[in-house]
Amino acid sequence: MDKKLYITTTLPYVNAEPHIGHALEFVQADTISRYFKIKLGSENVFFNVGTDEHGQKIFRKAKEECLEIQDFVDKYSQRFKDFCKLFLVEYDSFYRTSTKEHHKAAQEFWKKCQDNGDIYKKRYSGRYCVGCERFITEKELVDGKCPDHGTEPEFRDEENYFFKLSGYRDHLLNWLKSNPDILKPVSKLEELKSIISEAEDISISRLRENLPWGIEVPNDPEQVFYVWFDALTNYAIAVGFGSDEKRLNEWWPGIQLFGPDNLRFQGCIWQSMLASAGLSQTAKLLEHGMVLGSDGRKMSKTLGNVISPFDQEEKYGAEVVRFYLLSGISTYSDSPYKEEDLVNMYNSRLANNFGNLLNRVIHLSNTKEVNINRYDDVEEDFKTKVDSLKDEAESLYDQYEIALASEKVDMLADFGNKYITEKEPWNKNLTKEEVEKILNNLSYLLNIVISLYTPIIPNSCSKASKALNDRESIILFNKI
Ligand SMILES: [Zn+2]
Repeated sequence: MDKKLYITTTLPYVNAEPHIGHALEFVQADTISRYFKIKLGSENVFFNVGTDEHGQKIFRKAKEECLEIQDFVDKYSQRFKDFCKLFLVEYDSFYRTSTKEHHKAAQEFWKKCQDNGDIYKKRYSGRYCVGCERFITEKELVDGKCPDHGTEPEFRDEENYFFKLSGYRDHLLNWLKSNPDILKPVSKLEELKSIISEAEDISISRLRENLPWGIEVPNDPEQVFYVWFDALTNYAIAVGFGSDEKRLNEWWPGIQLFGPDNLRFQGCIWQSMLASAGLSQTAKLLEHGMVLGSDGRKMSKTLGNVISPFDQEEKYGAEVVRFYLLSGISTYSDSPYKEEDLVNMYNSRLANNFGNLLNRVIHLSNTKEVNINRYDDVEEDFKTKVDSLKDEAESLYDQYEIALASEKVDMLADFGNKYITEKEPWNKNLTKEEVEKILNNLSYLLNIVISLYTPIIPNSCSKASKALNDRESIILFNKI
């Protein structure tokens, strides 16, 4: 890889507390970032997260809480920062769309699209759902209400700016044709193609009198940006769009992570905006799955199956929750969050497999007084086997297959445990040289297990690495 690697999450909307879906997306992106920082050097990876802070919903919510809007968004944005800290999400940039810099650069983006002839003004009337922040069609209504929000949309008649999304259908379909592996999982490719084929021009502004909390449209103070049009530009602005062309060329395009309800925005609208502004298409689109309730149904307050990431962290600690989200929850398809699975997986993979092996090797090397951690003196056959599993795990990480990579690391630790059981380095009939060879081999394996698990459970791995180097006996993972 000769180019630098840029990775970004979507920006959560700051009208509520972070939920388990945010946790999944943030820790996945963090793991990819950490893996590539180790591989390419941390100066060659840039990891962006942040918060989406405009829109009607936020305006209304702030009023409900009797807060000034800026104070309201500051409060919730800080909740997401705290959340990142809690879950060890080490970002390079925490992007906020309510900053002056963002306003200025988003307006630059608008002008580029306008100069390219893709923005026009049109009278529009229809039913508007504030929850969705968009006009919804008669067809979408259920009993006269928005199916997602259960509220009756407001009737609105206003003049707005529109973006010529329909003009990019062929361009995007050709782009997908020449880059069939741009989207993960590939099973979603057909869905994206049909979204693109059916793309109609979209409204990208609102009347300021309806939405005082938004970015002013260039040369039209009566209109403000539609919240999505403003928020999407962050991905390019975070790496220099509108301020530093050289930096932008260094980092753009990048990898974008997003959830299942976001394919239209990431794969169609944003890609058309990029093409309109003369920027390259996104390098990789990663659509993670949805975290379902333990009953396998979508989490909802009514069903009472909502799992709070804060409660889970308090109960098990951040790394155990990270480990389960990254190893037990499928990386690309919907899967249920089951606490009993979390406990079983932690006990079997970390406590019994990895932790136990680490403990046995350190303990035996101390009692047998042999030298370990001499990695240039590992037996050839053993090294070949270990290296091949390591290569497989790395190749899975390279393809952003986090859960599968983690499974491979577990297989590596399991291979180590089988090897120690078979070789019996505690056996009194073995010579010191024989014991040393076995334990040195295992220290090589452990060193690799630690480095491969580091992107997933960084703190435990840093403790494990220190313990192995200093040959200090520790119980890294207490059974739950
Ligand atoms: Zn709605």
